[in-house]
Amino acid sequence: MRVCRTITEARTALEPHRDGTIGLVPTMGALHAGHLSLIDAARSECSTVVMSLFVNPAQFRNPGDLNGYPRDEPRDLAVAADAGVDLVFAPDASEMYPPGFQTWVEVTDLGAMLEGEHRPDHFRGVATVCLKLFNIVDPDVVYFGQKDAQQVAVLRQLIADLALELELRALPTVRDPDGLALSSRNVRLSAPGRELALALPRSLATRDPERARALLDGVGIDVDYVEIAPFDPPVLAAAVRVGSTRLIDNVSLEEDS
Ligand code: AMP
Repeated sequence: MRVCRTITEARTALEPHRDGTIGLVPTMGALHAGHLSLIDAARSECSTVVMSLFVNPAQFRNPGDLNGYPRDEPRDLAVAADAGVDLVFAPDASEMYPPGFQTWVEVTDLGAMLEGEHRPDHFRGVATVCLKLFNIVDPDVVYFGQKDAQQVAVLRQLIADLALELELRALPTVRDPDGLALSSRNVRLSAPGRELALALPRSLATRDPERARALLDGVGIDVDYVEIAPFDPPVLAAAVRVGSTRLIDNVSLEEDS
C-alpha cells in the first residue's frame, strides 16, 4: 500500500492505474467497521482503491472538537493495508489549505438545514474538501455512509450541479449489536454515556418524530433536532449530545428494517 502526502505525489502514483476503475473512500481516520464496509465495497467494484485520511479543519467550527478528534495514523494505515487499500492519501492541512486559500463550495439549501443549522459552515467545509479530493484522485466511484445521510444528499447535489463525472454509492449504516451506529466519536462515551446514547437508535426506530422526541426527552438527553429530512429516500434524522459528545443517526422511512 502506497501512502502519499502531497497532491503531486498522489496524482503521479495514480497515473498508471487510470486504465481501470478507481474507487475513492474519503475518511477522517479512526477507522471502524463502518469505514471497512465502504472499503470492502470499493474493493469488490474497482480495480484500484484509494482511501483519503484527512481530518478536515474546515468542517469543524469548535476547536475543541477538532483537536479532540481521535487520531491514530499508524493503526489506520495498518487497518487500511489489511482491508486491501492500494493508496492512502494523507495530506497535511497546509497541503489542502495552503496560505491564501479562498475558494469555497456551498450547497445552499441542503447544506443549511438540520446539521447545517447547528453547525454553520460544516457542509461548506465538507463540499469543498470532497470536491478537492475528487479533483485530485479523479475517481470513477466514491463511497459514503448513509450514517451521514445529509452529507450524502449534499454531495449528490454537488455532483449533479457541477456535472462531475463520477458515481456516488451510499452504503448502509453499520451498527454495534446494541443498535448504536458506529462512529469514531463513540470512543469518547463513558459507560453510562453509552447507555444513554442507546436512546438515539431506539427513538429513531419509532420512525415518528413526535414519539422519538418524547423518548429522547424522557431519558433526559440533549436534543439538537429530531426531524424528517427530505432526502432521497426521506429519513428520520436526529442529533443529540451526550456530555460533550455529539452523535447523529438516521433511519430510512422507506424500508422496514
Ligand atoms: P468519517 O471518517 O467519520 O468522516 O466517515 C467516513 C465515511 O464513513 C463517511 O462516508 C461516513 O458516512 C462513513 N461512516 C461513518 N460511520 C459509519 C457507519 N457506522 N456505517 C457506515 N458508514 C459509516
